[in-house]
Amino acid sequence: MQPIRLGLAGYGKIAQDQHLPAITSNPAFELVAVASQGAPCPGVANFGSLGELLATGPTVDAIAFCTPPQGRFALVQQALAAGKHVLVEKPPCASVGEALALVAVAERQQLAGLFAWHSRFAPGVELAREWLANLALQQVHIQWKEQVRKWHPGQEWIWQPGGLGVFDPGINALSIATALLPAPLLLQGAELSFPSNRQAPIAAQLQMQAGSVQVRAEFGFDHPGDDELWSIELRGAEGTLRLDNGGAVVHVDGVPRALADEGEYTLLYRHFEQLVRSGQRDMDVQPLRVVADAFLMGSRRQGAAFEW
Ligand code: NAP
Repeated sequence: MQPIRLGLAGYGKIAQDQHLPAITSNPAFELVAVASQGAPCPGVANFGSLGELLATGPTVDAIAFCTPPQGRFALVQQALAAGKHVLVEKPPCASVGEALALVAVAERQQLAGLFAWHSRFAPGVELAREWLANLALQQVHIQWKEQVRKWHPGQEWIWQPGGLGVFDPGINALSIATALLPAPLLLQGAELSFPSNRQAPIAAQLQMQAGSVQVRAEFGFDHPGDDELWSIELRGAEGTLRLDNGGAVVHVDGVPRALADEGEYTLLYRHFEQLVRSGQRDMDVQPLRVVADAFLMGSRRQGAAFEW
């Protein structure tokens, strides 16, 4: 079978840290071109814009989007209009409306599309799904806290409108929760904390419900020290399962469970390959909808200015 000829749009932190190794280690893909405003990618044809890549570059079957969410809608639309399958980094767009519009265009064009909720491919998530099949879930407690200076050094877009601030990592936890919960995750209330000099929140607390399950989330973007706190505790009458390290570590009733870890992006690209080969779509907007609801319904307070 011929490899899928892939173009990358945006060659920043996540493209270099995760996409490139996942693509080059998967023979189903051949990276043939990169469009980026930033550093060039060695070993392939580089272009200053997606338009230039599509017009003058080598033929590609699919484009993976690793640009910031603001402005991504127009780029993905451009790729779909050119008949390319699309993998779109999370959060898929700056607004729910844009994301839904992309779903409609991909469907109309009968092209493959993946909104890349990478945390859903963490090894503990599948185990949690199996565990949940046998018990009645009652409560979920999410703590998702990291240091923005470590994970997003100097990325101004993250603090600008549409950049999501603390919801940029928090949406990863919501992507796991929405994949595991038995009913739609609905916001009941939220408190958002904004630095006085920024347009996006640095901390948030969410109260939610999914059917009869109570869900609480605490998000932080100025977590002290080097270690992240990326945990989700799922509690039922019969026991508790805890995901740590973003789903890479699992404890059931305090006992660690062994997990095979192939890497989230390895599995993500394997999933994308299946979608491209079958012309299917996996473009879930639920995590973005919950974040949008938090911006709509949440109370706001202003805190100290944020400096890098
Ligand atoms: P980043 O380091 O700022 O990289 C984005 C890159 O896209 C930059 O090189 C930027 O160039 C380039 N770019 C911007 N507009 C472009 C355009 N129109 N055409 C081509 N290139 C363009 O950001 P990132 O951390 O990689 O994040 C990108 C996306 O991945 C975000 O949605 C983020 O949520 C997601 N993600 C990030 C992480 C993480 O740990 N950082 C993890 C998972 C997912 P300039 O800098 O010159 O503008």
